[in-house]
Amino acid sequence: MARKRTERMTKKTPKKPKYKRQVRKKEMPLYAYVEERAKRIAREIASHIRESTLDEGGIIFVHGPHYSGKTSVGCGLDESIDPLRRFVRGQPRADDRPDVLEGFFYKRKDGSKCPAISFSTKREIEQLFDEHEIVVMDYVQFIPYELQSFFLRELDDFVERGGWFIALGLLFNSLRNEFLLSFVIRQKAVKEYKLTTTCQQCGRRNATLTQRLVDGRPPNFEDPELVPPSDKVVYEPRCEDCHVVIT
Ligand SMILES: [Zn+2]
Repeated sequence: MARKRTERMTKKTPKKPKYKRQVRKKEMPLYAYVEERAKRIAREIASHIRESTLDEGGIIFVHGPHYSGKTSVGCGLDESIDPLRRFVRGQPRADDRPDVLEGFFYKRKDGSKCPAISFSTKREIEQLFDEHEIVVMDYVQFIPYELQSFFLRELDDFVERGGWFIALGLLFNSLRNEFLLSFVIRQKAVKEYKLTTTCQQCGRRNATLTQRLVDGRPPNFEDPELVPPSDKVVYEPRCEDCHVVIT
């Protein structure tokens, strides 16, 4: 018996991203409304695409803070999308971010995932758009600066050919400024979904921003735009009233 116990104890546990998840398991039911809304939006997007003519493409931008259901929209789409259309999920490769998994969309809220193609080169962007008719992309704001102009040109050509691009991402960085690429995608979008979620400070369901906390402290406006989450750096959704940036 004793030997058996030792074997169990030394068994390797699967590697998990090293950062604090803000929503604890017992709090998940509080976000049921976010999941319900994500399913409805996925169905709405699918029917919008179904009702368009084959040569008519467009951009749909779904944006909101952490835990607002963006990734759930992306993971739920294949249930409603016409199976005959060439559909793919994509996301920028982000080796330094434990919250962006290679080859998967990762739902921060519950740690679940669904398959996606990660890219980090112009060739990979080209393939994603050339080989598919519907592309849903998570973390659009993390597309590296040096790929952004190429990405936008490929995106324009794709839409021109009748492709549908569903962008999922943050509109605002945690310093409360708009991500440049998100701003441009928003300008080009034919449809926009502004998601909100529960503010982790006051509990109202009107959080539109993401609060960065480093060792529990809010950021200074001079801080970098992107800081990967870690055991010291956490992000949580907050409403405009509760969001803090030190100036
Ligand atoms: Zn609040």
